[in-house]
Amino acid sequence: MAVQPIRLFDDPVLRTPAEPVTDFDRELRGLVRSLQATVRAGTGRAGLAAPQIGVPLRVFVYELDGRSGHLVNPRLDPSERRIVADEACLSAPGVWWPLERPYMVTVRARDMFGKPVTLRALGTLARVLQHEADHLDGVLFIDRLPAEERERFLAALP
Ligand SMILES: [Zn+2]
Repeated sequence: MAVQPIRLFDDPVLRTPAEPVTDFDRELRGLVRSLQATVRAGTGRAGLAAPQIGVPLRVFVYELDGRSGHLVNPRLDPSERRIVADEACLSAPGVWWPLERPYMVTVRARDMFGKPVTLRALGTLARVLQHEADHLDGVLFIDRLPAEERERFLAALP
C-alpha cells in the first residue's frame, strides 16, 4: 500500500468503530507505512487514522513539528485541564473550528511489532492524539461541537 485517497466526511467508514489489531504482522506494518506516506503527501502535518483510508483497524499515525510516530490499539488518559484551540480534519479539508479538549493526554498503546509504548503529550500534539483516537471510535470532531456550531460548520464545508 502506498499513498491512499483520504475518505471524506460523509463516508460510512468514518462512522464505524474500528476493530482492535490482533495480528502484528507484515500487513499491519504496510498499513502504518501507507498512513505515513498518505499524511506526508498531504499537508505533512497532524495525523491520520486507518479508517480515513478505509481500513477499520485501531491504528493511527501522527506527524507534528518533528515528532512523528504510530500507535496501535491506543488507550487514552486525558487531563482534567481543558483548552480551546482551532482544529481541522483531513476528512473535511479547508475548515478549521475552535474546540475544547483536554490539554494533556497519556496514551498507552502498542507499536507495529506489538511492543507496549507509552506517550505523554500536551498542547497541539495532545489534541492530535485525541482527534485521531476519536476516529477509531467513529467520532468526528464536529460531533463534539454544540449543535448550533455544528450546523455552521456543515454550512462552511466546501
Ligand atoms: Zn480527522
